[in-house]
Amino acid sequence: MTDRLYYHDSFLYDFDAEIREVLDSPRPALILDRTAFYPTSGGQIFDTGRIITAANDRFKVTEVADTEDGRVVHYFEADRDFDQAALQPGNRVRGQIDAARRCDHMQQHSGQHVLSAAFLRLHNMPTVSFHMADDYCSIDLDAPTLTKEQIESAERLANEIILENRGVDVRFVTRDEAGKLGLRKLPPTERDELRIIDIRDFDLSACGGTHVAQTGQIASILLRKVEKVRQGWRVEFVAGQRAVATARRDFTTLTETAALFSAHIYDVPQQTRKSLDEIRALRKQREQSQEELAAAQASALLAETAEINGRKLVVRTLTDRDLSFVKLLAQKLTRLSPHAVALLATSSPQPALVFAQSTGQPFDMGALLKEAMTTLGGRGGGSKDLAQGGLPNANGIDSVLKALAEKLAG
Ligand SMILES: [Zn+2]
Repeated sequence: MTDRLYYHDSFLYDFDAEIREVLDSPRPALILDRTAFYPTSGGQIFDTGRIITAANDRFKVTEVADTEDGRVVHYFEADRDFDQAALQPGNRVRGQIDAARRCDHMQQHSGQHVLSAAFLRLHNMPTVSFHMADDYCSIDLDAPTLTKEQIESAERLANEIILENRGVDVRFVTRDEAGKLGLRKLPPTERDELRIIDIRDFDLSACGGTHVAQTGQIASILLRKVEKVRQGWRVEFVAGQRAVATARRDFTTLTETAALFSAHIYDVPQQTRKSLDEIRALRKQREQSQEELAAAQASALLAETAEINGRKLVVRTLTDRDLSFVKLLAQKLTRLSPHAVALLATSSPQPALVFAQSTGQPFDMGALLKEAMTTLGGRGGGSKDLAQGGLPNANGIDSVLKALAEKLAG
């Protein structure tokens, strides 16, 4: 078993140890007799840092993990060729923890204890799990509902506890003693000795994580997204410098958005709603104009197309018209005249074909479109009276339409 120095001192960033084992698969790793490196466990993510040999070779510790039998594995990367002899069991090494990362993890994890206790005290909502990631953390609360007021009051209480700068003590007790202490949460595993994190007169939890010494070191807690999960509610939060960095990022985003509207940041929701309403109104107007334009164009096309063998064959390639407009035009043509057959295309912005005939006309538009597609490429299909498809480019549209028109004219 590795002696875990962080159990007794969360602020120990520099330590000496002896190499116990050197592993090389799947990645090179070291097991030491003692370590201050925290391995991922209990929701808290691992420390990083360096291991330095007596020959002054430096290894970057990229991940730290627990083994099932209680050892701590330090995965490392060597930045250059190193003296293999210095990495042998029995040799002494020095470990250096990335203090900024550890400090951040302590702020998040201690922040979580304070926040979980606040939700339990104020709203009787127990925390069932804790998750820490590189950007934000979350707790899952066992609660049927969670209101905005409950979120804000828990956040307020947590920040008050931080401001009061209460002591955070680490104690080791037997399981029996722990049972009498009234812990917020007892670990499920059967251990004889439990490590207790004691936030003075506020929270007692069994936990193996690294914690601040005074709640003031958490600095602040900011609650973020809340979402319903299977067994309750997930509350995202950030503590310490992360809270400031997150608020800074939010402010920058809001400021950029507000500048687009030439508005104050607090008016962004109102301005956005206004813009969306305008977009909806414009979209409606546009649809109406398209309808009218398609109808007018269809009338003009029918007027200028001679009726041959009892039908009007309209062949047209449009530009700067999207597929929906071409389809609209095809529908207008076949509804305005009972004798229309339309072979329509658009060459831009997105090349496409629409073939349509008035109800009762004898051709098969779906089959005709497939025939065009074999020459032009693209995908599409449809029924006997209406078929459409997109093309990869506008090459050859006119000649294919001309050939099909000649075929239909018989
Ligand atoms: Zn904990």
